[in-house]
Parts: sequence; C-alpha cells; structure tokens
Amino acid sequence: MQDKRDNIRKSTIILKKLMKKPENSVCANCQELGPQYVCFPYATFVCTICSGIHRHFSHRIKGVGVSTFSSEELNQLIQGGNGVDKIKYLANWTEEKFPFPKAGDRKKIEQFIQLKYIEKLWYKNFEEDDFPPIQKVEDVMKTTDLPKIIIIEKKKKNNQKKENNQNNENNEKKENNQKKENKENKENKMLIDLDHEVIIQKIPKIENEKIEENEKIEKNEKILKKDPFSAIWENLENDK
Ligand SMILES: [Zn+2]
Repeated sequence: MQDKRDNIRKSTIILKKLMKKPENSVCANCQELGPQYVCFPYATFVCTICSGIHRHFSHRIKGVGVSTFSSEELNQLIQGGNGVDKIKYLANWTEEKFPFPKAGDRKKIEQFIQLKYIEKLWYKNFEEDDFPPIQKVEDVMKTTDLPKIIIIEKKKKNNQKKENNQNNENNEKKENNQKKENKENKENKMLIDLDHEVIIQKIPKIENEKIEENEKIEKNEKILKKDPFSAIWENLENDK
C-alpha cells in the first residue's frame, strides 16, 4: 500500500512536469485543455471523453494522480507524448482533410480515433534515423560503462542571454567554468531533466568488456528492482 502510494506520488510529479509541455497540455485528439489521462501504447495525454472512447477501442488508459506507473510507461511518455504522436500518427494529416474534432463531440472524436489509430490513415512509419537517438532508461541502465560514456546534453529552453548582453564575455567564462564543474559532478549520474530538452547519445559498444557485462547487468537490474524510478527520480529530487 505504501509502495503504491509512493509510486503514485513520484509518477505524478514526473507526469505533471510532462504535462507542462505545450503539446501535452491539450488533448491529443480533440485539443481539450488540461488532459488528465494517458493512453498506451501511444503514450499520449488525453481528456476524459477521449479516454472513454480509447477504452472502447481496448487502448489502455491510466489516470494521472490515481494510477500507478511503471518506469517503462514513464519512459514512453518522456520520449513520446503528444508531440511524437502527432509526428507519427498525423504525419499525412492536414486540418483541411479532417479538422480536429471539437471537445465533447463524441461521434467526431470516435471517427477521428478510428481513422488515426485503427486505420492509420495519416500514419507515417519513420525510419529509426529520422528521430534523434534516444534510449530507454532500462536499456541505458543495462549497458556497460553507463556512468562514463553517457553524455546528456542540455539546452535550456528559456535562455536568459538577452539580459546579460553587456557582461557577455565574463558570463561566458563563468558559464564555461560552471559547465565544467557540472560535467564533472554529473558525469556519474544519469540525468533526466524535464525542464530541458534532453538528448541522450547512443552508447558505443565495447567488445572487450562483454564478460563483465552480465555482472553489471545483474547489478543494474538489482538497482532497478530496488526502486524502478531511481534513474528518473534521482535528479528530480532537487528540483521540486
Ligand atoms: Zn479529447
């Protein structure tokens, strides 16, 4: 019971952060504001009415703040969400072809979901290379040399450079020093920071260390079992 509550508390914090992204702040189907449900396997944020319709199509629905989420599901939402859904399932769609159904218009929404997901009328199957290389936290945890090789670039979304025009040079130096420090400090940590665009680079395979790999996988699996959120949670803890 405690575990369940803990899971809901942690996942809700992560989900609320994701829901602040503009693309996730409106329903993936009808554009209703403030969707409170997520739909799998599409990893979308949807409104109450759309959640009911998705259920009719046997899509899995979970409520933010009430359901428990696995780290796999959270990762799907971190790496997916309504933005990626639109790129894939509405790739060949235009407003003229089929306008978004109005919020609350059950019939139109049902038709839209049918065309979008069941008939895949506007779907485009992208090649792997079309997307930036992204890995699941689990995969990352299982690879060897996790702490040293993983590089995560952060681009702050709202940069404050405009304010600092005059002291640009000094600031740049300071920034560089800080970056160095940060890099050193965080080198050994996995960093998932939802307020930034996060790019996880692919990890090169190291052939010689295959023997040790199994041991390390076992270790990492233990870490995952201990707390499935550890990788995601660790860096959100300071960020509340
Ligand atoms: Zn909706």
